[in-house]
Order: sequence, then structure tokens, then C-alpha cells
Amino acid sequence: MKEKTISEILAQDDYSKSDLVRLLQTDSEEKKLLFRKSSEIKLQNIGNKVWFRGLIEFSNVCSKDCLYCGIRKGNKNIERYTLSDDEILVAAKFAYDNRYGSIALQSGELESRSVTNRIENLLYKIKELSNGELGITLSVGEQEPEVYKRWFDAGAHRYLLRIESTNKDLYSRIHPNNNRHDFQRRLDCLKNLQDIGYQTGTGVMIGLPFQTLDDLAGDLLFMRDFNIDMCGMGPYIEHADTPLIEYADKLLPTAERFDLTLKMIALLRIMMKDINIVAATALQAIDSIGREKAIKIGANIVMPNITPGKYRNSYKLYENKPCTDDTAEDCQNCLDARLSLADAEVVYGEWGDSRHFDRRRGLRD
Ligand code: SAM
Ligand code: SF4
Repeated sequence: MKEKTISEILAQDDYSKSDLVRLLQTDSEEKKLLFRKSSEIKLQNIGNKVWFRGLIEFSNVCSKDCLYCGIRKGNKNIERYTLSDDEILVAAKFAYDNRYGSIALQSGELESRSVTNRIENLLYKIKELSNGELGITLSVGEQEPEVYKRWFDAGAHRYLLRIESTNKDLYSRIHPNNNRHDFQRRLDCLKNLQDIGYQTGTGVMIGLPFQTLDDLAGDLLFMRDFNIDMCGMGPYIEHADTPLIEYADKLLPTAERFDLTLKMIALLRIMMKDINIVAATALQAIDSIGREKAIKIGANIVMPNITPGKYRNSYKLYENKPCTDDTAEDCQNCLDARLSLADAEVVYGEWGDSRHFDRRRGLRD
């Protein structure tokens, strides 16, 4: 049988795994066709709009040891910090005063009664200081369903938990093999979040050692079938103080990881027209206008870092993490200028919820 052309595949309503692998292999003119289609779909369904989530990286203390991550428990070469309640509330107030529609609270993963209570209390306080107006995304890892429910009731309405890779074997190669790093638990957590009513976001790292295009195609199909509302995916970037550095010489060059990430974003936008897709900060670690490029071909969410400057150097997940010397104001000014270069309009003072979430619940046509 004659092989389908890229135009023929792009014209289909749905893609098989082998179609996706073909699309991930595109280059030059064929890649331009892919990006043209994803840009058109974004414009038709989302417009040229971008919403902010002010990112507060409130603690780098983590009980886990993911083999790729610079703030893993086993890394003794970083200074650990946890923001005080006041510091978190000041950052949230900054977001509110600057009309960011939402914030995202992110940290290493800790499961304990005191952490549950603390986050719950902070959620109530953030809702109070913003007259209920700031939207809140949480990204604090795997927790029991009761904990997710308490935080939902306290005002968090979106949760980002990357599956990292949907290939179970690959997952086990990039995590220690113990019950603290269990693939099935990660999946169960995502399901619990969705059942509780969160706008549920997941994502993967792209360019991991041992990862194949087949794996990435499988990741896209997983996101479609799981019916996610949001996605944050970005290139894997090595960190010298992590076990995966052992495979640094087996990685794709960073420019190829970057390119593959753009193709993943473009494909996901075509497959899931109305979800929220983050232009990940890690893109900017490779290309100084990486996030803008992602916005052009499909992403619609940016997470300006509003963590107090003195802590930013200690939240180094990977090498070359950008903007670690900036203040929150620097981030705002720089992003505004850059996004206008990308012809995107930042929407201030709105949550920018995933339209997919509303449609999934029958609240929108
Ligand atoms: N601890 C929470 C969790 O793991 O879900 C939230 C914080 S964690 C630092 C956020 C994300 O950072 C992870 O889901 C992972 O995909 C990403 N990350 C960690 N190390 C990375 C690396 N070396 N390169 C790119 N992304 C990385
Ligand atoms: Fe901890 Fe998240 Fe890093 Fe894993 S990815 S070590 S859970 S901060």
C-alpha cells in the first residue's frame, strides 16, 4: 500500500500511533505544515490569547528521589528552603495586584498532616486576600484522595501532576524502584483529581534517555484518552547532581529536544483543541524565545515566576534554568514585551479556565 503523505495524515480527524510517529519525524516543509495546522486550530479555538499563572515555588524540600530532578531528596548540594506563610501571601498579593488571573503553588512532594493543614489554610487566606478572585493551581505531587478533596474545598480548582512518561518501563528507569515512586499510584492520583472535580493537568518530559518516538506518541494518546483539561510538558534537561547524568552522552542534542517538544505541543493542540497548554519554562532554558515559539504553534498559558528572588537559585530542577536572578517585576515586564513580539495578547484579570473542562461538564457548547 502507498504510504500516506503528511498532508493526508494532517487532514484526518484522528491519528493512530503510527501517524503520530510520522508527524513527530517531520522536518523542514512537512514540519511547517504541521505547525501551520496547529496555529490555525489554536486561533480558531482559543484566539491569540495567553493567560498567566504566577508561579510560586514555595519549597524545594522533597521526600522523593526522581532520578532526573535537581531538587530530589538525595541531592546534598542545594540549600533547602520553605517560604513562610507571609512570603507566600505577599507573592499571591503581587499576582492579584498585577491582575494575573491565577497563581500556581508548586513544591517538592511531602505528605503529612501538617503540610495538608498548612496548604489548606493558605488556600483560604489567598482566596480571602483576593476576594475570591485569584484562580489557584496546585502542583505538589501525589497525595491521598481526602487531601486532594480538602484542598479542593478550600479553593484550589486546578491540579498539575505530570505522568512524566506513560511507558511503564521507561517510568521505572527514571525513578527509583520502590513504593514511593509507583507508576500505578501516579495514575490513581490523576484519576482521583479528575473525580473530585479539579481541572486536571498532566504532561511528560521530552528527550529523556531511552525514550522513543513511539513512547511520545503513546503519551499523546494517553492524554487524549484520559480527557485531560490542561497539559504542561517540556524538554528534559540534565542536571549534574542527579543519577540520570550518567546517560548525558546518549541524549538528543538540546536543539532536537526543543524541536520535538514543539511538535508534541502542536500535535496535542490539534488533537485537543480546547485544552490549556503551558509554554514550559524549560523551553526557554534551551532557546531564549522558546516560550514564544510554543505560543505561536499551540500553547496558551505562561507561568511567570513570582517566587521571591533570593530563593530562585535553589529551585534548580535542571541546568540553565532561566530567570533565576530576576524579581517578579522583571518577569512581568520581560514577558509582556516578549509576548507582544509573538503577537499574543495577555489577558489580565481572568482565570482563563480550560474550555475543555467546561465542555466536559456540559457547561459550554
Ligand atoms: N514535586 C511535584 C511533582 O513532581 O509533581 C511538583 C514539582 S516538580 C519539580 C515539577 C516538574 O518538574 C516535574 O513533574 C518534572 O516533569 C519537572 N522536572 C523535574 N526535573 C526536570 C528536569 N531535569 N528537566 C525537565 N523537567 C524536570
Ligand atoms: Fe520531588 Fe517532584 Fe523533583 Fe520528583 S520531580 S524529586 S517529586 S520535586
